Amino acid sequence: MMLRTHGIELKTPAQIAKMRVAGLVVAQTLEKLRAAVAPGVTTGDLDALAAEHIDGCGAEPSFKGYRGFPATICTSVNDQVVHGIPGSLELREGDVISIDCGSIVDGWHGDAAISVAVGEVPPEVTEMMRVCEESLWRGLAAAGLGGRVSDISFAVESYVRSQGRYGIVEDYVGHGIGSQMHQPPNVPNFGRPGKGPKLVKGLALAVEPMVTLGTKQTTVLRDDWTVVTTDGSWSAHFEHSFTLTDDGAWVLTALDGGRARLSELDVPCAEPEPA
Ligand code: MG
Ligand code: MG
Repeated sequence: MMLRTHGIELKTPAQIAKMRVAGLVVAQTLEKLRAAVAPGVTTGDLDALAAEHIDGCGAEPSFKGYRGFPATICTSVNDQVVHGIPGSLELREGDVISIDCGSIVDGWHGDAAISVAVGEVPPEVTEMMRVCEESLWRGLAAAGLGGRVSDISFAVESYVRSQGRYGIVEDYVGHGIGSQMHQPPNVPNFGRPGKGPKLVKGLALAVEPMVTLGTKQTTVLRDDWTVVTTDGSWSAHFEHSFTLTDDGAWVLTALDGGRARLSELDVPCAEPEPA
């Protein structure tokens, strides 16, 4: 049964449990890919690894065939922000690659992304990646029952702005997730707190800041998918899907449910004990 308020799908605990399984498939796949990133590896190699792992879990990739997307994962290198198509591109020492992965288990989705350095990258790139990932966790930590969606947006933006002059991409935003990969509401990475839909039990959202070393402006390449920065500046992208419990965010796409990172931010662990 699907409960909807204002077009927002609220999940039952059983449905959230399926999303947790899908989220774990995504988390494990991304860990595999992180370990495989190295100079000489192609983005197509990573895609094949992801396809094999997701299939081996008895899950399906969310992206393949989504509006005609031709691959299992998105691989976005350097000035590519999101939605890059895996292929013959060979990673080189000093590149940064963002990998976005989604999986479906029994019709329920998980969606997450990481950025990974290929060998040694310049310190400003390492720092941008850190800022982007930390802003994601600040956003997740700001999500509490009774709050509003833009509490997350505000926490993400405030953290990034506090760390330096970065671009925060506005053309692409986080989203509701559940029986579809993308559903209402939008979860922007910028804005004032206390706005937007209420954060309630059964809601599941994907938070996904995209941070650049230059502009926030993006454009789409002629493949109709790959999003790049208009000024060629490099970017990072991190994403997690989460739901809310009485104690705060339960990060469905983190292996530990978000326990370690959220406790660093003084948010009590939200992962329920296994039934
Ligand atoms: Mg994603
Ligand atoms: Mg997403």
